[in-house]
Amino acid sequence: MARINTQQASGTPATAYTPRYIDIGINLADPIFRGRYHGKQRHPDDLKAVVGRAVEVGCTKLIVTGSSFKSSRDALKLAKEFPGTVFSTAGIHPCSSSIFSPSHHKHHDESQSEGEEDEHTPACDPDPSKPIPDGEGVDHERSTKIIADLSDFITQARNNTSSSSPGLVAFGEFGLDYDRLHYCSKEVQLHSFAAQLALAASLTPQLPLFLHSRAAHADFVRLLKEAFGPRLERLEKGGVVHSFTGTVDEMRELMDLGLYIGINGCSFKTAENCEVVREVDLSRLMIETDGPWCEVRPSHEGWKYLVEWEAKAKAASEAIAAEEAEVAAPAAAAAAAAANNSTNSSEGQENVEQPERKEKPKKQQQQQQQQQQQGKKNQKKEPEVPERYKVVKKEKWEEGAMVKGRNEPCTIERVAKIVAGIKGVSLEEVCEAAWANTVKVFGLDS
Ligand SMILES: [Zn+2]
Repeated sequence: MARINTQQASGTPATAYTPRYIDIGINLADPIFRGRYHGKQRHPDDLKAVVGRAVEVGCTKLIVTGSSFKSSRDALKLAKEFPGTVFSTAGIHPCSSSIFSPSHHKHHDESQSEGEEDEHTPACDPDPSKPIPDGEGVDHERSTKIIADLSDFITQARNNTSSSSPGLVAFGEFGLDYDRLHYCSKEVQLHSFAAQLALAASLTPQLPLFLHSRAAHADFVRLLKEAFGPRLERLEKGGVVHSFTGTVDEMRELMDLGLYIGINGCSFKTAENCEVVREVDLSRLMIETDGPWCEVRPSHEGWKYLVEWEAKAKAASEAIAAEEAEVAAPAAAAAAAAANNSTNSSEGQENVEQPERKEKPKKQQQQQQQQQQQGKKNQKKEPEVPERYKVVKKEKWEEGAMVKGRNEPCTIERVAKIVAGIKGVSLEEVCEAAWANTVKVFGLDS
């Protein structure tokens, strides 16, 4: 925590603002956070440490995405395990929607079948290599059962919650993803989205929506309007379109309809993406990591804003250190002179504090020297963007470290800093706006 305070002081010297974050989209139900990768246990279950690191950086609330029956169930379990910190959603992601098709051979609730392999949430990158063509149709009998089961799950989850521990807070993740038709055809995705929208509209009271839309804007908006009216006037609790990567016009249309925009690492990939982020109204902004996916990478356009932010923070902290050193030096000299000249006068009392003040810059100098020596030993140049936690490969897992390539909620501070940089506003404005929007829509305690 000490390190957090240093960074805060250096990044925002004018105020002592403590950033707070809510990760609105984190796939913590993915077995990767239990150390399991494609069915193989590669390292110990470190989910508690992942949540701990999030809380340590100020990300004190996590909305865990349910994207299938199994992950919705697991997300709800996590909400019970971490009451007041973890909340959950329930829905069927477009990439999990092949359960509506006649060729799907398993039970639609995978958690009911034996010996099922671990199911990972689909990565955020598009893969249009082998799209499943339309024409297969929808298994309507199966669809009726799926929607009835989802409805039962939501009813039970809501019945088992209290106001202090709401657990399930949103309907979703659901929507359309035409970038990834290799998981599910367009025809089946459209059916899955429409059927779930009808269920969402029928709930009393309704739940806010956690929506996914990729390369499918026109159909996405059309189906939303069919379910909730041309101005979404029948959408009682609003909703967020998460992991937004669409155009400025598309984003404006969603904001005009009263929807919120979720921004994560995928929203910073290109210059066009960053232009869209600049145009998101703070009053409509939410932030997320979408871990284990969608980390911010040095190849992303948005990375430069992070480098800029860290450089400014470093310069500010160096300026403070220099100022302290200047103040301390003459004061210490005066104190020494006063000590020499005076006997037991009342002035002597003030001098008690002087040696401590003098030590501060010395200590900082020592730390800097140590860091420089360590740097030389490792033969590495200082990274442009410091890692708050050590990052290791999964094969070299160690306690307290993050795993390379597995994005986790403590990195949400990077998302917030980049949004602040792109929009030219303070970190505080970004954090407080996103916090207020999220608390309001999902009915969380502020
Ligand atoms: Zn998504």
